[in-house]
Amino acid sequence: MSKPAVLVTRIIPEKGLALLRAETNLQVWPGDLPPSRVDLLELVKGKSGILCMLSDPMDKEIITAASPELKVISTYAVGYDNIDIQEATRRHIFVGNTPGILTNATADFAWALLMAAARRLPEGERHVRTGAWQTWSPSTLLGTDFKDSTLGIIGFGRIGQAVARRASGFDMHVLFYSPSHPPVEGIYAQKVSDLDELLGRSDFISLHVPLTPHTKHLVNAQFLAKMKPGAILVNTSRGAVVDQDALYHALKEKYIAAAALDVTDPEPLPVDHPLLTLENCLITPHIATAGRQTREKMAVVAAQNLLAGLHGTPLPYCINPQANKARDL
Ligand code: NAD
Repeated sequence: MSKPAVLVTRIIPEKGLALLRAETNLQVWPGDLPPSRVDLLELVKGKSGILCMLSDPMDKEIITAASPELKVISTYAVGYDNIDIQEATRRHIFVGNTPGILTNATADFAWALLMAAARRLPEGERHVRTGAWQTWSPSTLLGTDFKDSTLGIIGFGRIGQAVARRASGFDMHVLFYSPSHPPVEGIYAQKVSDLDELLGRSDFISLHVPLTPHTKHLVNAQFLAKMKPGAILVNTSRGAVVDQDALYHALKEKYIAAAALDVTDPEPLPVDHPLLTLENCLITPHIATAGRQTREKMAVVAAQNLLAGLHGTPLPYCINPQANKARDL
């Protein structure tokens, strides 16, 4: 019997590829850059499984091009805003993701951004390299202290909770806003039911919501105006959760002290983007999960999801189990 045809849209860690090679007719896109849309439309044809990255649009047109053979889409990420879940479900295509295993890496990175922005690490480094450092001074690059400050977490799922755990080691107060989440036993964090209350009380705000039509531009001019003057915003969720024009103005006017973003809209952010002219804006290239072990585990889980979809067994992590019954929708 011939092996099912599978596309992997980037070179992922070998542990994941080896699992797929053993059981499928595997095609791996070899480039560092994603396939173009034209290439992708061609590559997906006749594939029973696609293992994609968060930067590959799995929209209706792509899914249609891969149908009717396509049985499973496995994304190498926890967020799945790049995939048309409704269209996949309608076509009886299962979609898998990689939750949990990347939680600590992402929370660590959010914490690194928060500390770097609060204590002005990138500015300090530039200060040294550019020769601006002339003496020790009582007022050089003053930042924000952690102890007794308040951290507001928006989206109290896996990563939001992991960030709250880190805050407890820094003697911070923690608030969270996440309507469907009750407080979690063992995590010191106070639930607030009013977002404005969190904005008005927090010295730091960290975003951990998925990108949905409800969270797109959640951080807009009104949101920023309600933040405490001098507060710091950290975003490791998705770029489009923040209205970047509004953020630029809040940072330029120094209404908020700083922002640290691992995600932007678009990605990559053009090098002439206004945000990159600001000293108080730290931007990293969407690397929150980029720990070696984390990426290896993600590759294994993504491969396992894909193989389960091909075998017709339940995916270890399935976003749309209802695809099972969806044929007649
Ligand atoms: P999760 O589903 O466990 O948590 C998300 C939480 O947000 C849920 O509790 C949900 O109820 C809550 N939520 C949804 N809409 C909300 C709203 N409007 N207001 C407040 N809360 C809301 O997901 P997770 O594993 O914690 O991941 C969160 C997101 O982080 C992912 O969807 C992904 O986009 C992003 N992420 C980014 C990176 C990165 O590399 N920067 C890495 C991992 C995850």
